[in-house]
Amino acid sequence: MSDPDVSDLISVERAIQIIDSTPITLQSSQTAMEGSYGCRLARDLRSDRDYPPFDKSQMDGFAIRAADASSRLKVVGEIAAGGLSDRAIGTGEAIAIMTGAPVPAGADAIVPVEHTRREGEFVRIEKPVKPGQSIAKRGNDCVAGEVVLKAGIRMAGAQIAVAASIGATEVSIYPPSRVAVLSTGDEIVPIDQTPGPTQIRNSNAIMLQSLLRRGYGCFVDSVATARDEPSVIRREIEKAFESCTVLFISGGMSMGEYDFVPRVLQELGFEFKITKLRIKPGKPFVFGGKGDGAAAKYVFGLPGNPVSSFVCTVRLASRLLTRLSGGMPDDRVIRAKIEGSLPANGPREFYLPGIWNGETVRPLQWKGSADIYALAQANVLIVRPENDGAVASGGVVRALEIPT
Ligand code: AMP
Ligand code: MG
Repeated sequence: MSDPDVSDLISVERAIQIIDSTPITLQSSQTAMEGSYGCRLARDLRSDRDYPPFDKSQMDGFAIRAADASSRLKVVGEIAAGGLSDRAIGTGEAIAIMTGAPVPAGADAIVPVEHTRREGEFVRIEKPVKPGQSIAKRGNDCVAGEVVLKAGIRMAGAQIAVAASIGATEVSIYPPSRVAVLSTGDEIVPIDQTPGPTQIRNSNAIMLQSLLRRGYGCFVDSVATARDEPSVIRREIEKAFESCTVLFISGGMSMGEYDFVPRVLQELGFEFKITKLRIKPGKPFVFGGKGDGAAAKYVFGLPGNPVSSFVCTVRLASRLLTRLSGGMPDDRVIRAKIEGSLPANGPREFYLPGIWNGETVRPLQWKGSADIYALAQANVLIVRPENDGAVASGGVVRALEIPT
C-alpha cells in the first residue's frame, strides 16, 4: 500500500529522542520499606556497619588452626550462631561451631563436620585444610559507610533484603507516577455490558490500566470514557488532570470527522511535541505537554486500534514513565534468528508480534492493528526498520520484549 505522505512524518528514533529529552521534575518521598517494592531509590543507601560484622563461620563444623589439621584435636567448646566464645583456640584444640557464628580467636579455618570424625572429647580432621577456609572475613561483603544500593535502582526482593540488612526501615524513593486512562469513542461499551450490533467492548481501558500498573509500576488515578463529543472529551480531560501527571487517551486521534481529541487538547493549552510518526502499527500517535516543573502534565494520544495503542505505549510512552519513576529508559531488545522469512518492509518502522523461545523468533501472522488475538500469543515485537529488505529464514532480527 502506498504511503504518500510518509516523508513528512518523523522516525521512531527521533520520537524517542523527543520523549527522552522532554524536561521532567522528579520528587522523592520517604516511605516505609515494605511499600517500596517496584519503586526506584532516590538516595544512595550506605551500610551502617561492616558485613559480615565479624569473621563468620560459613559451615557447621570445627574452628581450628589450619596448621594443626593433621593431629587429633581436643574439642574445648561450642559456639552457636549469635553466640561468642570466651576463650581462644590453643595448639591442638578445636571448637565446635555453627554456620553464622563468630570464629573464635586463634582459629584460622573452619572444617565442615562432614570432613571430621568425632572421638569422644576429640575430633579427627579427614580432609586437607587451607588457612581461611569457610570463613567470611569481617567486611567481606561491604564495609561501614559503603554504598550498598545506588540511587535509581529499582527495589525488588533482593534490594529490599539489602535495605533490611542495614536497618533502613524507611527509604527515600520516587513514588509511582500518577496516570489516568481515557477511552473515547461512540462505539465503545463497558466490558460488562452486552454490545449492540455495531458496538465493541472497551478493551483498551483495561489493557492500558493493567500495562501501566503492572508493566510500568504506575498508580492509575482514574479511568474514564467519553463519547465523541468535544465538550464531553474536554470535561473528562480536565477532570483527569486534576490529579494525574500523565494522561493516556485512546481513540479519536486521527483525521476522521469525529476525531476531536487533538483539537480539544490544543484548546486546553497542550503543546504537541510529536504528532506524525513513521510507525506501524501506531498511526495516529500524539505526545504533548503543558506547564513545567512539578506541575508539568503530559498526554499520550493513542490510536483506538488496540495493537497500535499497545505498541505506542510499550515502545514510546514507557520511556517517559521510566524517567518519571527515576530510571533511565532501556529497552529489552533481543537479537535472534528468525524462523520463516519476512517480506520487505515499507517506509514505516514496523512492530510485528512474534514468539521468542530463547533461541529463535517466530513471526505471527499479521492481520493488522486490531489483531489483539495474535498479540496475545506474542512475547516480543519484532522490529522491522524502515524500508528493510526481505529477511530470509535464519536471518537475524531485533525484537523488543513485551513486559509481562
Ligand atoms: P479511532 O482511533 O477512534 O479511529 O479507532 C480506531 C479503531 O479502534 C476503531 O475500530 C475503534 O472501534 C477501535 N477502538 C477505539 N477505541 C477502542 C477501545 N477503547 N477498545 C477497543 N477498540 C477501540
Ligand atoms: Mg473513534
